[in-house]
Amino acid sequence: MALFSNRPVGCSFASLPTSFYTRVAPRRLTEPRLLHANPAAAALIGLGTQDLSSPDFLDLCSGQGRLNGIEPLATVYSGHQFGVWAGQLGDGRAHLLGDVGGPEGTWEVQLKGSGRTPYSRMGDGWAVLRSSVREYLASEAMAGLGIPTTRALALVASRDPVMRETPETAAVVTRLSPSFVRFGHFEHWGHSAAEQAALLNYVVTHWFPECRVGTVTEPDLPATACRLLTEVTRRTARLIAQWQLVGFCHGVMNTDNMSILGLTLDYGPYGFMDAFQADHVCNHTDTQGRYAWNAQPAVARWNLYRLAGSLLVLGCTASDLESCLAPFETEFLRAYHAGLARKFGLSDWHPEDAQLGDDWWALLHAQRADFTLAFRRLADVESDPAPWLDLFADPGAAQAWLTRYQSRLVLSGPPATGRRAAMNAANPLYVLRNHLAQQAIQAAQQGDPSEIDRLFDLLRDPYTERPGHESYARGPAADIPAVAVSCSS
Ligand code: AMP
Ligand code: MG
Repeated sequence: MALFSNRPVGCSFASLPTSFYTRVAPRRLTEPRLLHANPAAAALIGLGTQDLSSPDFLDLCSGQGRLNGIEPLATVYSGHQFGVWAGQLGDGRAHLLGDVGGPEGTWEVQLKGSGRTPYSRMGDGWAVLRSSVREYLASEAMAGLGIPTTRALALVASRDPVMRETPETAAVVTRLSPSFVRFGHFEHWGHSAAEQAALLNYVVTHWFPECRVGTVTEPDLPATACRLLTEVTRRTARLIAQWQLVGFCHGVMNTDNMSILGLTLDYGPYGFMDAFQADHVCNHTDTQGRYAWNAQPAVARWNLYRLAGSLLVLGCTASDLESCLAPFETEFLRAYHAGLARKFGLSDWHPEDAQLGDDWWALLHAQRADFTLAFRRLADVESDPAPWLDLFADPGAAQAWLTRYQSRLVLSGPPATGRRAAMNAANPLYVLRNHLAQQAIQAAQQGDPSEIDRLFDLLRDPYTERPGHESYARGPAADIPAVAVSCSS
């Protein structure tokens, strides 16, 4: 393909035994239309803006083109869904086109919503425009926030009808990631020593070479697995701390949606909180609240236990594996406290600050204050506390917290001018609130992608205030019904 004539193109996943995947062609879309393309993601694989309007690009992102002739494949993985072993799950509607060596690393190119595969189970292989817009915008919003994530390269819409609760239309998101390997890939091979060893070697060779114990030809598998698990534990803990600090709820933290690289993966019924509620559940399908905001750290740890269990087959001992999971709590707290200190404008975190932090969440929770604005407006309380106090129904309680906070700032904060800029660089003004995503979806369903453009531009740099975009910083109006998101996608 001319698009990548100067780039190294391959498919490293296909170096694994054929039991790991099936070669299968994506489905042809009817009248595919490029609704949006992402120049920043394109640059990662060496594409320029001019390439994004080429017919080859549309062909690639609608499943008709091939990366230098490589036959696409679907990988096999399993996992635990809502705490229960679910067996084989996917890829039910994703096709890996291959990988491209970009200026700063190699990226796998994957289509999502591109048709049935041998792992589709009862699914139709489609993804609807609604969920595809949500995935497309959310992954770039996370990148804009500086949170590890898969990236979105292109959004292609079509007229193909798809039946969900109501009739919708099909769309395909092209995603980029160094790897799409999930905890679920390891769980799938948890009873097959040879395949698990192959997967471990593959993952360590490409993404965790520092974890290898022994040589490539004679690796010490249990020791290598332990090192990998320790590193995945650390990355996952840091990732979840970052989610917590922007009020992001993933919504379906099943083990098959957990990236081995510690990236945010698979955007479905996620939610950025408006009014803060510690036990907020963003996914209406999650009736038990398993994936509530305040449950995410514990769930991540539970998921890491499932990953650990799948490594027993390599000869690791349970106690060794358990000690690899031990850093989770310290790593999570370290990242969470450092992040909260930045958001509060503190130059460092003291153990006594934990109480101030706990009381912050209790205050926001009791008054259902807006998560994003409560942090953002804190930067301005020294000059004028009124806009911040306005976020609280009971300003007396807010003022009491504020007084303690201000005396803490006096203790060790940097000068006030530098602090304001630093806080604004740590507290986004714009997040992908559900009602904003919904506006973009409804316009796109009517054939108008301009709201996707606007959100995309805003969320790429969510820390910089943009005049004329005041409404994008606010929560939903009280008189519009809350957007209900579910696993339907
Ligand atoms: P999710 O809960 O969205 O992560 O999906 C769980 C698994 O079901 C994934 O492996 C998907 O590939 C698969 N899946 C979800 N929706 C469909 C669909 N419409 N058709 C085929 N497979 C699907
Ligand atoms: Mg998934």
